[in-house]
Amino acid sequence: MDKIIYLDNAATTKTAPEVVEAMLPYFTENYGNASSIYRLGAESKKAIAKSRDVIAKSLKANPSEIYFTAGGSESDNWALIAAAEAYENKGKHIITSVIEHHAVLHTCQYLEKRGYEITYIDVDENGVLKMDELKKAIRPDTILISVMFANNEIGTIQPIREIGELARENKILFHTDAVQAYGHVPIDVDELHIDMLSASGHKLNGPKGIGFLYIRKGVKIRSFIHGGAQERSRRAGTENVPGIVGLGAAVERAFANLDARSRKECELRDYLIGRMEEEIPFCRLNGDRQRRLPNNVNFSFQFIEGESLLIMLDMKGICASSGSACTSGSLDPSHVLLAIGLPHEIAHGSLRLTLSEENTVEEMDYVVNNVKEIVERLRQMSPLYEDFVKKQNQ
Ligand SMILES: *Cc1c(COP(=O)(O)O)cnc(C)c1O
Repeated sequence: MDKIIYLDNAATTKTAPEVVEAMLPYFTENYGNASSIYRLGAESKKAIAKSRDVIAKSLKANPSEIYFTAGGSESDNWALIAAAEAYENKGKHIITSVIEHHAVLHTCQYLEKRGYEITYIDVDENGVLKMDELKKAIRPDTILISVMFANNEIGTIQPIREIGELARENKILFHTDAVQAYGHVPIDVDELHIDMLSASGHKLNGPKGIGFLYIRKGVKIRSFIHGGAQERSRRAGTENVPGIVGLGAAVERAFANLDARSRKECELRDYLIGRMEEEIPFCRLNGDRQRRLPNNVNFSFQFIEGESLLIMLDMKGICASSGSACTSGSLDPSHVLLAIGLPHEIAHGSLRLTLSEENTVEEMDYVVNNVKEIVERLRQMSPLYEDFVKKQNQ
């Protein structure tokens, strides 16, 4: 099998050919510094303004509210740290969820060491934020609520409008890490009462190392990178013009066919989920069935190790990801799978498949057939499974 079936689009996506094409002239011909006086620099300046407009329009925001960053992690770090510092006179309490990306969770830990108090709200068995716990957690000194739009592991989409309304009523800032959702589901920052939003280029067929932070007008926020006057002096450093152009092109492309793409992905997703549930015993779909990203499939298989499954799938040309965090040097299973109540041993046997519009039904069939065969084979080698079968036969 020479062909690769790429099912790890939540980790990163292929840069679309038209995005690469849009970027190329900004390496070789229009390489001028956007801050310079001559016309070559003006080309770069114009291109940056165009991308900013495209992004602002996609969120129904104002171009002056979009700040380019080096990606989702930087946007999350900036939103949390700068808001914490700018509002510390009001209070030092921040609310977030237990299933955030590490870019948010580790920034919260950093803030905890600096005297901020963080409340981590639980989720239910489908990964939906417990709204009653959120309401109870709000205090007079709460300055920020940060809850991700959609989860990168299990695809659950949060009740963002309700969270936004609650934050607004209580005059608390609301930040959302929308890295997985932006370009995949429609977002209107006014309608959803979002004050800050993080997004990243490489999760929507744009280049890596570029993203943005939306900051609503009127929000007090500190500069994140100190230096020159770029990004209205809030994020210094010569602009990554090719990256910004690529991000703009990716956003244009993502929103132009959002409905059709999402419909196609949902169909493939549900087909894949259906076949897996029907044909593989002792499996569990993780994440909410309805409130779910169009391209996310996440299963736990009892009696197997996700890592072994991944290695064997790779030998069949299938790129996927698991729920255990061995890559991060830890043997603990994913904090997200534990948060939705999976026992350690079941969380370890998890598989995440994140699709793109380029996938086909034939590929889904190939994947199910292989997962089925490999899961069976791994179970035959598992002493736990042997015990289980013995007990069942008694
Ligand atoms: C990928 C991801 C990030 C990090 O984005 P980078 O651009 O890779 O820094 C943050 N949050 C979520 C939910 C993500 O999926």
